[in-house]
Amino acid sequence: MTIDAPPAATARGAGPALQPTLAELSRPGRGGGKVPHPPSDALDGIPTELRRASPLGLPELNEPAVIRHFVNLSQLNYSVDAGFYPLGSCTMKFNPKVNEWAARLHGFTQLHPLSPDQLAQGTLELMFDLQSELAEIGGMTAVSLQPAAGAQGELTGILMIRAYHQARGDDDRRDVIVPDSSHGTNPATASMAGARTVTVRSAPDGGVDLEVLRRALGPTTAAVMLTNPSTLGLFERRIEALLEAVHQAGALAYMDGANMNAVLGRFRPGDAGFDVMHLNLHKTFSTPHGGGGPGAGPVACADRLAAYLPGPLVVRDEAGYRLERPGERPTAIGRVRAYQGNVGVLVRAYAYLRAHGAAGLREVSEDAVLAANYLRARIGEGYQLPFGGPCKHEFVASASALRRDTGVRTLDVAKRLIDHGFHPPTIYFPLIVDECLLIEPTETESVDTLDAFAEAMLAIAREAYEDPDRVKAAPSSAPVRRLDEASAARQPRLRWSSAR
Ligand SMILES: *Cc1c(COP(=O)(O)O)cnc(C)c1O
Repeated sequence: MTIDAPPAATARGAGPALQPTLAELSRPGRGGGKVPHPPSDALDGIPTELRRASPLGLPELNEPAVIRHFVNLSQLNYSVDAGFYPLGSCTMKFNPKVNEWAARLHGFTQLHPLSPDQLAQGTLELMFDLQSELAEIGGMTAVSLQPAAGAQGELTGILMIRAYHQARGDDDRRDVIVPDSSHGTNPATASMAGARTVTVRSAPDGGVDLEVLRRALGPTTAAVMLTNPSTLGLFERRIEALLEAVHQAGALAYMDGANMNAVLGRFRPGDAGFDVMHLNLHKTFSTPHGGGGPGAGPVACADRLAAYLPGPLVVRDEAGYRLERPGERPTAIGRVRAYQGNVGVLVRAYAYLRAHGAAGLREVSEDAVLAANYLRARIGEGYQLPFGGPCKHEFVASASALRRDTGVRTLDVAKRLIDHGFHPPTIYFPLIVDECLLIEPTETESVDTLDAFAEAMLAIAREAYEDPDRVKAAPSSAPVRRLDEASAARQPRLRWSSAR
């Protein structure tokens, strides 16, 4: 089957063409408004050497041209509101619109971050409840809502672990052990916290190799950071033995819980014995992400680390809700974020939790896992599945056989998907899988969408054998073809010049 136009109702299509810049659209004398001419003596007070030698060169356009320019540009965006978005390791694509309404309520948006506690009781109550609910979800004792991202939550957790070891006079613990299937932010966090990163390789089944881990553990180990489910979409099956080994070595266990949608209501890291974790509210709990907007990576911890959580936490006493006072919990590692973090993100998460309730959250993880396993089975008809199933919320597939037989690479498959009207999945990550595709459908997609995506992937695999050059030349229907991504990143051209 050869497709140049998007076939599926669920697909968005390549969309409109690139737009000329406003400067290119500009015509002298055209304009949308009247700006009063300055008085003739306006420049008299400005020294000659500080005056412009040439006119400013602002584009001249009327209002409809400006509006159309930006609306047409916006149509070039691919978004979850326009089509399926199977990026792996980017949990939560569809974000309920009602939570956007809640986050925009004036009582939240107009509250000054330095308002006295008595004037902020509603927001403080929401934050207090959210702290408790996230602690409940994680099986943990206490939560700080401060960190503004998952990576910052990780850093916070590792700094808490360091404070814990230091408080016990256990100063030699400088190593953080990270499996090679962990998220890239885990080793980055360890380095940023001043620790030495020790990478342990995965076993053939994709889980942590316990023997290798045991050999790496020792009196200098501060912590083990475990992304669970891992970036292979696999739940760590040997978790009990693993945590026992970590604790026996005197180290603490950090769980990267960015993708809690895989296990919500089914598995609580605190019950398993993890000491500290973060959750990504902008992945599992409603805030849109992917555009680099604000996030929240609250940290939840067990009893032994609660004293070190960054302050101020929201507490409740006879007078109502309030923030901890400076110095109230002297063991706290300090602030990690100005004010109270990204409160709008907290409001969305709270609304999401309220709307779902415990039973609803369990359904979220069931649906996410079901959708991923369904898609995995269908994609497996045309691609390699390097690890046995079942998977959790995402799965890895590989185009290594396509590459061997036809020369078509994962990158080509991803580009050809654009011609089918789909956003490509994550590719070449995690690094430990050859010609890797990391695919995550999430809980909100219908079986029709999953089928349409699987059909497109399988059609591309067939096409690779019949007409590999066509796949390698993709995309053919997008406004731009293959871009030189390395040069774009290294020598970005960010300024328009009329000389070009
Ligand atoms: C997204 C993600 C992170 C990092 O979260 P940010 O909010 O982007 O900093 C960490 N770990 C895992 C497993 C993730 O998926």
